[in-house]
Amino acid sequence: MLFIDTPIEFLKGVGPSKADLLHRELDIYTFGDLLEYFPFRYVDRSKVSSIAELNPDEPYVVLKGTIYDMHTVGNGKSTRLTAQLRDKTGQIELVWFQGIKWIKDSLKPDVEYTVMGKPTIFNDRINIAHPDIERADADNESNRKYIPIYSSTEKLKAKGLHTKGIARLTEQLLRMAHGKIPETLPLKILQKYKLPSRGNAIEIIHYPLRPHDIALSMQRMKFEELFFLQLDYQYSKRERHKRSNGYIFPVVGEKFNRFYNERLNFELTGAQKRVVKEIRSDMKSGHQMNRLLQGDVGSGKTLVALLSMLIAVDNGCQACMMAPTEILANQHYLNISKMLDGIGVHVELLTGSVKTSEKKKIKQRLAEGEIDILIGTHALIEKDVIFKNLGFAVIDEQHRFGVEQRSKLWTKNSLPPHVLVMTATPIPRTLAMSVYGDLDCSTIDELPPGRKSVKTIHCTDQQRLKVFGFIRNEISKGRQVYIVYPLIEESESLDLKDLMDGYESVSREFPLPDYQISIVHGRMDAESKDYEMGRFKRGETHIMVSTTVIEVGVDVPNATVMVIENAERFGLSQLHQLRGRVGRGGEQSYCILMTKNNLQGSARERINTMVNTTDGFRIAETDLKLRGPGDLQGLRQSGVLALKLADIVDDEPIVRAARESVEEILDEDPELKTLENVTLKQHIQQNKRGLAWGKIS
Ligand code: ADP
Ligand code: MG
Repeated sequence: MLFIDTPIEFLKGVGPSKADLLHRELDIYTFGDLLEYFPFRYVDRSKVSSIAELNPDEPYVVLKGTIYDMHTVGNGKSTRLTAQLRDKTGQIELVWFQGIKWIKDSLKPDVEYTVMGKPTIFNDRINIAHPDIERADADNESNRKYIPIYSSTEKLKAKGLHTKGIARLTEQLLRMAHGKIPETLPLKILQKYKLPSRGNAIEIIHYPLRPHDIALSMQRMKFEELFFLQLDYQYSKRERHKRSNGYIFPVVGEKFNRFYNERLNFELTGAQKRVVKEIRSDMKSGHQMNRLLQGDVGSGKTLVALLSMLIAVDNGCQACMMAPTEILANQHYLNISKMLDGIGVHVELLTGSVKTSEKKKIKQRLAEGEIDILIGTHALIEKDVIFKNLGFAVIDEQHRFGVEQRSKLWTKNSLPPHVLVMTATPIPRTLAMSVYGDLDCSTIDELPPGRKSVKTIHCTDQQRLKVFGFIRNEISKGRQVYIVYPLIEESESLDLKDLMDGYESVSREFPLPDYQISIVHGRMDAESKDYEMGRFKRGETHIMVSTTVIEVGVDVPNATVMVIENAERFGLSQLHQLRGRVGRGGEQSYCILMTKNNLQGSARERINTMVNTTDGFRIAETDLKLRGPGDLQGLRQSGVLALKLADIVDDEPIVRAARESVEEILDEDPELKTLENVTLKQHIQQNKRGLAWGKIS
């Protein structure tokens, strides 16, 4: 067994109960785990605070003073020792619950001590329990200038494993570990990026001598973390390319050609053509395709998906398209069946609200191969939905689907279908590199011609009358208008009230019979929702008042105004999605962001970003900066959030370097056969995470 794999129980001072706590609270099982449990900050012991200015929020402070007025209080189990520490500026209570006698005997009056610990508030006053104390004139040779601070939990602290207790364990372990921490990165990489060895980096992070060393050592550890993440992704991607069999669709057949020549009354954009070609070449390669298609709202992704599905159908396979909501699935179904009418392609819809008897029929026809294209919600991935030969699967707006749901599609066939994942929420490059490292990526970066970019205006309540006037004017030109209210799940009833109040005031302002208004919100049943959506789509109503249920994909080209109420409550990507609901026809469209006065901080920045740009990628980058990746939709299940050290935003240069070095290594030594790469090979063999990822979309 390697030293670092030794169970933590074998460390002196860690008995079974402490070991158990370390397992449960910190996920520490081995020596190696403890060595990788890093301090989150350091205290410079030469920076002494004055007692009068003590901040109780500090996790750890250093004080200097004399000790007096020592008392034992209480009795039995509740006995404690208190003392006062005094410096020139004031005094503070120190308290001990254990080791009382020893402490009482060893502390002397009129001696200056250095006292370190975590200040806490007790009975409205600050005190420090179980401080670390040493004589101020003590020979500081052995004492380090920087004291590592580890995070701990209440349960650990109760067992003496507060930051100091953990530091004691790591210090002891490090002495034993010297020279026994194996290197994991190839020497070439260490040299190229001038990174310290693993052993050095770990020692320095626990016991640094200079701040500069900490930074470099952390960089090394972050690099390692990102490097292995990339290695998992890229290795499995290459493996998949090599091994996986996929349907081969050699022909572009009759149905594709008829649709293309007879139904399409516009030219594909250059970007659409390029992406169709990319997909075509995947479909001919004999490997299973796993492709992410990014493109702004309205850039024509759905059309690309449809063309690709037709290729599958022309080659004797079935295709399916999974959408995140019933509204969207319905809309896709209607659009696609209309476009394919008379082409001889059987399209069906399967959602949760399709009648049971109807469902049964659809499933039967599907299994018999009578249905060519099945469109639906997650109802598609239920166990009893069996395709005869599913060759191509499209997943729309993938961030709405969990990783698990997506992976189910794979089991629908013995030969895995080609998979196209579409997203209208552009993913900043850094993230795409990390999260989708094992997907091939296509981007539609061009809107269909004639689209005028949406004009975005920021208004406050005082300008509401003007806004209403503007809406009236647009409606008189025959256009339609969305008015959207925020929906925050925690206070659904409150939001509903906002929406209803809004609806009432809009109804007063735009009265019947001249104006017809639709309303849609999450509390309505699917049937009423569809009814109202349908009226709006057919142009029977002028205004659609709704919550964000219309956010995704709804397509009403005649709508030219999007009013977003309380826009400061929306995230950037949501605002961008909502804005994408207008500007889908040839007319100039507008997005009006209504907010309160005096926006601050990130709310202000979000609104400004929306006003200043319509570029989805720029918006996504700003979003990432403002919120951090943890909040980005769809990333919660991704490996990126499991990163312990690196931050995908702040450490972008490291992400880049790690990715490039993995590429270089795999280009040179694809099988990782050389001695130099032996640790990498071991990592791949031990860690199946990469392969699990490879199976998912
Ligand atoms: P997305 O799925 O990317 O949001 P859609 O595929 O729904 O975009 O396309 C938005 C609208 O633009 C649809 O009405 C579609 O018919 C139309 N469209 C798509 N491609 C083109 C094109 N090349 N030229 C003109 N209109 C297009
Ligand atoms: Mg779409």
